[in-house]
Amino acid sequence: MKHYAIPDVRDVRIEKGLLGDVAAKMIDSVIPYQWEMLNDRVEGAAPSHCVMNFKIAAGDVKGEYAGCVFQDSDLAKWLEAAAYSLMVKPNADLEKTCDDLIAVIGRAQQPDGYLNTYYTVKEPGKRWTNMRDNHELYCAGHMMEAACAYFEATGKRQLLDIMTRMAYHIDSVIGPEEGKLHGYPGHEEIELALVRMYHATGDALMLKLARYFINQRGTKPYFFVEEAKRRDSNNYFDQNDFKQLYWQSHLPVREQAAPEGHSVRAMYLATGMADVARETGDNTLIAACKHLFESTSTRRMYVTGGVGSSSIGEAFTFDYDLPNDLAYAETCASIALCFFMRAMLQLEPDGRYADVMERALYNTCLAGMSLDGRNFFYVNPLEVDPEASHKDKRKEHVLPVRPQWFGCACCPPNLARLTTSLAKYMFTLGENEIYMNLYAQAEADLKLGDKHVTLKCGTDYPVSGEIVLHPGAGKYALCLRIPGWAKTYSIKLNGESIDAAVEHGYARIEREFKDGDVIALSLPMQPRRVYANPHVRADIGKVAIMRGPVVYCLEQVDNGALVEALCLARNAELSEAAQPDKLGGIIEIHAAGKRLVSSSDALYSDEAPALEDAELTFIPYYTWANRGENEMTVFVRDI
Ligand SMILES: [Zn+2]
Repeated sequence: MKHYAIPDVRDVRIEKGLLGDVAAKMIDSVIPYQWEMLNDRVEGAAPSHCVMNFKIAAGDVKGEYAGCVFQDSDLAKWLEAAAYSLMVKPNADLEKTCDDLIAVIGRAQQPDGYLNTYYTVKEPGKRWTNMRDNHELYCAGHMMEAACAYFEATGKRQLLDIMTRMAYHIDSVIGPEEGKLHGYPGHEEIELALVRMYHATGDALMLKLARYFINQRGTKPYFFVEEAKRRDSNNYFDQNDFKQLYWQSHLPVREQAAPEGHSVRAMYLATGMADVARETGDNTLIAACKHLFESTSTRRMYVTGGVGSSSIGEAFTFDYDLPNDLAYAETCASIALCFFMRAMLQLEPDGRYADVMERALYNTCLAGMSLDGRNFFYVNPLEVDPEASHKDKRKEHVLPVRPQWFGCACCPPNLARLTTSLAKYMFTLGENEIYMNLYAQAEADLKLGDKHVTLKCGTDYPVSGEIVLHPGAGKYALCLRIPGWAKTYSIKLNGESIDAAVEHGYARIEREFKDGDVIALSLPMQPRRVYANPHVRADIGKVAIMRGPVVYCLEQVDNGALVEALCLARNAELSEAAQPDKLGGIIEIHAAGKRLVSSSDALYSDEAPALEDAELTFIPYYTWANRGENEMTVFVRDI
């Protein structure tokens, strides 16, 4: 089956601009800072216990296991991000830190290949008794991803060998054969990781296991029900009837038409399905992936690319249920949505996948971290009143400012591994075709079959929509994504306008490129109004502002209190103002608006509130909550 490759991280240097700056911040500041966090050396922050748990499991120190049952995964995600960091910017000290850490991980591995510090330290003898809740396969998946990334970065096999032994151990315990557990992970992730292991090792066992987990999921009798019968427990999940939806185990995956349950799990599953489908050419699985894409992107996704509407189960709910103030929209879920879209782009070039990926990346993902890289959001609401967050139990998950770290710190290292590996999202590569999915200042050296093609991209995107490309010499097709939000565009080759055919969202320029050729792509980067489908009850009568891929919001600090009382007339002009010193450098959007003002203090009155003139100042959503606690809203009253 025809499919598309992605570049290695080291093949694309993203140097400047919004994405380049975020990656540099990650590498220079956040990854070292997170290492301190994982070692419990940051004063005032909740301890992670991560490294300590591994040292205890390794027998290096004595102590008790601490933290969540899936704590190992935070370390794995950090190690994966550190590997990408080494590819972008070699650092002997960091590599030594990683080598030493991998030696500890090796000592924590049990003689039979098993690796999980929770069970090794805290509940030896109870391994594989609660695959639904206790994340052994999830943690293994993350460590497999770290192993593949570290092997790619350094050529060192130690962690890859450790995780290969773990895969063989898993295969000895779980599978279709009699005497094995016929199960699958309660939190998906290992499926996509096993496909990476398959690529890194060439070992068919990896793909066999990934396929088994995908195909076995949701079959009857339900594994998690049978497993719970064998287990004497009465935990949160036993007490709450999630009806298998929470774990996406309610139906075989090919019968699941919409994403259900825990949103991070659902998106990791979808990614694993697409990855397995690509490797096996399974058309029924591809069809299921497309159904999940359609239902997610057309009915269950916030304008910010956030997914997961309810804090109960951190879950998808139903079509068009996208409350702004109660949103869950976990940072990890949007990161996982980017993974899913990357996997779909590897199946077929369709600009809609890149549109969703870009939406999630520039909005919910970037909003997950403060501008200084020190604080992180887990939940990404579209409307916040700090008083409600403090006093209303239903909104206690909606934090008005980013905390330093979490007891459950899945999002910060996940963000680190995404933003340090954007090369994998920026391009997909066919036999003789380059698909450019994201635009950023970059220099690339891309493998097209057995040849190399260089490509330089100069742009300050998304500040402007002007993109100048210097393709290296050779005969191939350069396919430039024309975003779904771009109503117009122009392409010039060496100063002359050209008519490039647009297929599935990509303008295709196929020719014998010569050294010195210059392609200029111009996308319309003006502010625009965006309306939700009226089925989204929360957004009826409201409008959001976007500029290119960036969603905007109103914050109290710029607009005064009660931002919900602000209104934007349909004919009001949206003007831009560059603010190089504000919030790390932004394009602010201004509009003459109105404010609803009551004429009396009465709770109810016969008199309609007056509409007073108000100047509205919109800032990019990803920059909100960097100036202390204050109100924020994405959707504004449309009058
Ligand atoms: Zn998370």
